[in-house]
Order: sequence, then structure tokens, then C-alpha cells
Amino acid sequence: MATLTSPLSGAKRIVIKIGSSLLVDPENGELKNDWLKALVSDIARLKARGQEVVIVSSGAIALGRRVLNFKPATLKLEEDQAAASVGQVHLAHAYQEALGREEIIAAQILVTLGDTEERRRYLNARNTIATLLRLGAVPVINENDTVATSEIRVGDNDRLAARVASMISADCLILLSNVAGLYTSSPETNEEAEIVTQITQITPEIEAMVSGNISAMGRGGMGTKLAAARIAMGSGIHMAVADGREANPLQAIEQGGICTWFVPTATPVAARKKWIAATLEPRGRMKIDAGAAKALNSGKSLLPAGIVSVEGKFDRGDTVSIISPQGVELARGLSAYDECNAQLIIGHKSSDIEAILGYRGRTEMIHRDDLVLMKGQVT
Ligand code: GLU
Repeated sequence: MATLTSPLSGAKRIVIKIGSSLLVDPENGELKNDWLKALVSDIARLKARGQEVVIVSSGAIALGRRVLNFKPATLKLEEDQAAASVGQVHLAHAYQEALGREEIIAAQILVTLGDTEERRRYLNARNTIATLLRLGAVPVINENDTVATSEIRVGDNDRLAARVASMISADCLILLSNVAGLYTSSPETNEEAEIVTQITQITPEIEAMVSGNISAMGRGGMGTKLAAARIAMGSGIHMAVADGREANPLQAIEQGGICTWFVPTATPVAARKKWIAATLEPRGRMKIDAGAAKALNSGKSLLPAGIVSVEGKFDRGDTVSIISPQGVELARGLSAYDECNAQLIIGHKSSDIEAILGYRGRTEMIHRDDLVLMKGQVT
């Protein structure tokens, strides 16, 4: 079923994952500059409309292999890592040039699994990306393959892109690769195979359609794309698996070109709030005054000034309960400060935070996007 407006057209924050096979010529290992140029013109169009774009790009290992003259497929982990290290320089340079031609600033970010999992690093990565987006730059992200050994790496950029999309509360994720979408069966062996254009739930039937085919150059197959879809849908993100081989693939998607859309049931903010509300054991409690309770009820953030006391042991990013003057749990949210710093700034104006802590922290103790009112919540 074709949707009238593509989720890509309406999205505010978009993550675009580019597979190695699109960017690097399998024949000679060269970077496909013309293809990249066309893609970047697509991206420039999205940005001109006010949409924020993050790129997750593979290709470092493939490019590095050529430079180092490695023969394919037989590499040891450390050779792959050496290839990634050499190739990443070329990759970053290619993006800088291509985006620069459209007067867009490129920013490179290399992440590891821990950056998307461990709370403190997660918040740092999220803040850096948000800052870059605010400044109009396009972050170009890849896994830090040079330091990530097999046990601590995501391994494929499909899932990495979904984790990044979820981490930065993107509303749309596009996986561009050399497949046109999810087929009902293998198009190579079955002429009747068709692309499923819309998936709202990953059922056992959908799983059965995925045969685990691995692409020759990158690491992802349909299996990792489905795993990415699970992460995306759970975070309220629309995700498409689309053919990137033609020039201007994003335009094609927007114009209703055939691809597979994974459609979530909740919005990103709603999914995030549901996740916060469902925290089994909030790490701390913040008692607030009547003024703060009123502000929260009208959808505002929680400022340090309205907090009367803080209990518990928590870090930045942990879930805490917010207790009303009547002693009931009014809300839950992710604290922007750990318990020690929270103790120091409660009851104070946000403009005093810098003088008290010695650095300019967040104005809010809990930002409204990280806060959920508990009334009527089914946890
Ligand atoms: N991070 C790897 C690279 O840049 C690619 C992983 C993948 O193909 O998904 O070469």
C-alpha cells in the first residue's frame, strides 16, 4: 500500500545508512564519487527544507583493503581493523568533499557499542550529535572498527544505524543498500517474489521471508536489517529498506518508489516515554514543590528551583521518581545530573548552576522530552 506522504518527507530528524556496496565499486575497490555526489544533492534538498540529516556510512574496510592491496574475504580481525583505519580517512575525506560542494559541513563520529549502551557515553554522544545538527552540520558516523574487537562490536552498520537513530530520537531511518526491499521469497529463485511495501509488525511469517543472505562487501544481510527494524519500531521510528543503486535514491523514495517501510505504532517521544514509565526500579526520588507540580502538569520541564529534596544513588541519565507535595509519584524522568550534583543545585535558579558546579550544565534537572507523567500510565 503506498502512503500518500512518505514518512521521509515529514520527518524532522533522519538517519541515512549507506552500505559499502553502494559507495565502493566491487570491481576495483574505488570510491563511487558520482554516486556520492548525487546522494549528497538529495541530502542537500532535505536540509534546505529544514530537515536534520545524519549519515551512517560503511565502506572503510572495503576502501582500506584496496589501498593496502589486501585480497578479499580472508582477512584476520587485525587486518580488517588496519583496513578500517586506512579506509576511514578516505571515507571521511570523500564526505567532506561531497558535502562541502553543497556548502554543508561534514563531521565525523566513530562510535563503539558502548557509546550506544553505557549511559554516560550515550548522553555525551547524543549531545554532541544534537549540537552538530543545531549548527547545521551533517554527522557522518561509522563504527570505530579499529578498536572494537568482535565481542564488543556491533559488527554491521544496519543495527548501528538503528541504535544511533534511537539514541538521537530520529523519526526516520533509511537503509540504502543493493536490495530493493524485503521480498516475500528469494527473487533469484522465485519469479513470483514480491516486495512487501509495508510492515507494521514483525511476525514469524516476516521472519521466515528473511533468508540471511549476506552481501559480498558489507556485513549486513536481510537478517541485520530486520534486527534494525526491531530496534527502530520499538523506538517509534519509521524505517525503510530501499535500493540505493540508482542516482538520487532519497528522491525516489519520496516519490513513492518501491521499498519496504517498517511502520511503528508509537511516535519516538511516546515510545521513549513508555520506556521511561516502565522502568522497574527508579534509582532516586525527587520531591518537588507545588509550583513545580503545576509546571509539570502543564507539560513543562523540571527545573532545579522547584525541587525540595533528592534521595537515592543515581547517575546522569538514570530514571528517577518525581514526588508531589502530597507524597504521590507524579512523574518519572531521566535526570540530567547525578545525585551529588543534583543535591547541590536543588532550590537554586538555573542561572546559578555554573557558579555552583563550576561548569555550565543543563538548565533543566529533567527535560520535558525525558519526563513522563504517571497518571493513567499502564506500566
Ligand atoms: N563499519 C564497516 C566499514 O566501514 C562496515 C560494516 C557494514 O558493512 O555494515 O567498513
